[in-house]
Amino acid sequence: MLYVHIPFCAHKCHYCDFNSHVRTEPLWQSYADALAQELIHWSGQHNFKGRPVSSVFIGGGTPSLMPPPLLASLIATIQSCFSLDPQAEITIEANPGSSDQHHFSDYRNAGINRISIGVQSLDAEELRWLERIHSPDEALAAFQAARAAGFTNVNLDAMYGLPGQTLDHWQQTLHRLIQLNPEHLSCYQLTVEPHTRLAAQHAQSPYALPQEEASLAFFQYTRHTLRAFGYQPYEISNFSRSGYHCRHNDGYWLYRDYLGIGAGASGKWDEWEHDKAPAGCHRYTNIKTPEKYIRSVQKNGFAIRQSETLDLNQAAAEAIWLGLRRKDGIDKQWFEDRFQQPLAQFIQPALTPWLISGDVRLNNAGIQLSEQGIVLADSISAAIL
Ligand code: SF4
Repeated sequence: MLYVHIPFCAHKCHYCDFNSHVRTEPLWQSYADALAQELIHWSGQHNFKGRPVSSVFIGGGTPSLMPPPLLASLIATIQSCFSLDPQAEITIEANPGSSDQHHFSDYRNAGINRISIGVQSLDAEELRWLERIHSPDEALAAFQAARAAGFTNVNLDAMYGLPGQTLDHWQQTLHRLIQLNPEHLSCYQLTVEPHTRLAAQHAQSPYALPQEEASLAFFQYTRHTLRAFGYQPYEISNFSRSGYHCRHNDGYWLYRDYLGIGAGASGKWDEWEHDKAPAGCHRYTNIKTPEKYIRSVQKNGFAIRQSETLDLNQAAAEAIWLGLRRKDGIDKQWFEDRFQQPLAQFIQPALTPWLISGDVRLNNAGIQLSEQGIVLADSISAAIL
């Protein structure tokens, strides 16, 4: 799995805590050169050398701002550095208002076969509050452009729980998105992330955000409705038509290794002592500022800002924390092979209260959250860490 981060945006939305930066003139060529250099560096490292790549996710920021020829050359470099599976899922994130149909066709020609469009809302007022640069019509046009360009695997991102948003408002957005018939929908509740402009505004003059009961109503309505329209809730916030899971994101939840390149990207690989005995894992995060990232790659070939090693137990706990997000949960055999300890023993006593209440189900196949337990996913997962 390979993640590529493109950190530039046309505007920094006030709620955003992604590594995104606004530049009057983004350093596209230098940034693309640095990505290529970082790919070459990692392809020579023992932990990734010769490994097959089955998914590529180009995220941001707003990757659809990147000039298409540079994106095409990025894909070509990935192909030359790694053994890219011919059936690999290759996703790009695009924001309405930042691309046109011509660019979408270029993405297809470059080999990109999945597009994730940041719609967020189809209500003009809500989009203004979110500080998104697009209108509802532009969001719909971006979807049509993706279809016209030949994308048959499209995700739409949407957000609920905005200040003052009623369930009725959310229902209207959700139903209009369903009418478009995308293969995948990601529906998240707005959260006030620390160190964002929204957090500062909220601290000064609190917004009317939904309380627990209202949040639950949004969450349950979303699951119920999407299920009724044939979307499988394969992860807490992600819904897909059969066969259209996001394979890349599923890989994170399945605790697979991934290489991350670009400013602020992270990567992770399993450590195997003497190539045999199971051990923990290693992970790293890159320098966040694009200019500093470029300079570091130019000098060293990589741009790691910090890295850490998790021991076997820490890695096992993290694998459970991530795996519980999946509807199918964690496979017992996989866990016991990977971490060399009984799953039932590992999760107790941390998860005992939820095993008793039935919110967590443990059987011979593995563990998973019950439909009721999904509502408590954050507390349950946090208890294992
Ligand atoms: S478009 Fe997305 S990545 Fe860019 S600032 Fe807004 S929320 Fe952040």
